[in-house]
Amino acid sequence: MQTPVPDYLKHVLSQCQRNTDGQLADYIPELAAVDPDKFALALSTVDGTIYSTGDDEVEFTMQSMSKPFAYALALQKVGLTKVMEKVGVEPSGEAFNQISLEKDSNIPKNPMINSGAITTHSLIPYKRTVSRAEQLRRFLSGLAGRELSFDSEVYTSELKTAFRNRSLGYMLRTVGVLEEDPEAIVNGYIKQCSIKVTVKDLAMIAGVLANGGIQPQTGKKLLDRSVVRQVLSVMLTCGMYDAAGDWLTTVGIPAKSGVAGGIIGVLPGQVGIAVFSPRIDEHGHSVRGVDIFERMSREMGLHLMEGTPSAQTILQSCYWAGKNDDVRVYELRGVLQFTESEMLLRNLQEEPPGDTTIVLDLTNLTLIHDVGARMLFEGVERLQQDGHRVVVVDSEGLLSQTQIQKHAAVLVQEELERYLQQYE
Ligand code: GLU
Repeated sequence: MQTPVPDYLKHVLSQCQRNTDGQLADYIPELAAVDPDKFALALSTVDGTIYSTGDDEVEFTMQSMSKPFAYALALQKVGLTKVMEKVGVEPSGEAFNQISLEKDSNIPKNPMINSGAITTHSLIPYKRTVSRAEQLRRFLSGLAGRELSFDSEVYTSELKTAFRNRSLGYMLRTVGVLEEDPEAIVNGYIKQCSIKVTVKDLAMIAGVLANGGIQPQTGKKLLDRSVVRQVLSVMLTCGMYDAAGDWLTTVGIPAKSGVAGGIIGVLPGQVGIAVFSPRIDEHGHSVRGVDIFERMSREMGLHLMEGTPSAQTILQSCYWAGKNDDVRVYELRGVLQFTESEMLLRNLQEEPPGDTTIVLDLTNLTLIHDVGARMLFEGVERLQQDGHRVVVVDSEGLLSQTQIQKHAAVLVQEELERYLQQYE
């Protein structure tokens, strides 16, 4: 049998194809010359599978979809505190190119509007031989898993008409948010906007964020979890500019649009989605792109606030093992976060004090968050204080060294079945 996912994507594309509303972004001459009917959709999973349909080989410029990644790179390289001194995290409720600053602090409201994005660009560390835009191109190539390039025509075309972005640059220099020549920084920002991608690249890039910063195909850790969380939060509240509230309620997926017609969306822990269709609405969002996201969120239950009640599944089974039925085994499954750990600890609370051997098997867990590990070991210590002997079976090596800390003595790396043989 063949998975129906590609058929579904094709179906969505054909359903939305009829919509020819919107205009090309004509304030950048080169963007006004593209084929308005190009249309593509891609979806990535957190294990690195990419499904795509339509014009999925066509490259287009990232434009504002580059902003969350410039923000990610700045956060990763200079840290949250330094970045927050220069750019806020409040939704502006204004257009993407609004000339405004936060009231008291005099810094841009967020990194998704142009003033914040120009500032973020200026925070990317660079070398004399490797510009900030080039640093970002390299970083995005790592996320996409292939070498991306700049579109020099779109870049030079936007340079000719970038009066508004220049005025933003000079305003930011006047108030001291920018500390260098605003011309060079604005040019660099425009260059960053001209990085070319296909929907497949975007889906892959989104997949890295959905996967907590780890490139699913190479297994390489490219971003810290805390950076991913920060970036996705800002995408959720500010990514769709003055339509962010509408987007959050109808789609509910952290996303960013670009005026060339792309939209990139990330559902944490689940999927990355990318759409390309060049006609845009008054907010600068691809019309058919918005259509597709709304439809997929509704039909596939992808809204962030749908929240699956995963905590109900943390205990796969609980039984007695060993020759004398005196070894208590708890097999866990799913993801160990706060709610699941609370449920596990409530179950362990039922163990009366005594000297039972209690085995906690982590083999079928898919992810252990730090809070999950902390609560698990807190439970282990309390069981030990009650007189029990506790063993944690982690045959898949899910726990990280930092999560294990001083608890290495209770860990067993063998498979559960093999470990239990000694009690037979
Ligand atoms: N390069 C464009 C600008 O700065 C990006 C705008 C967008 O994609 O929203 O005007």
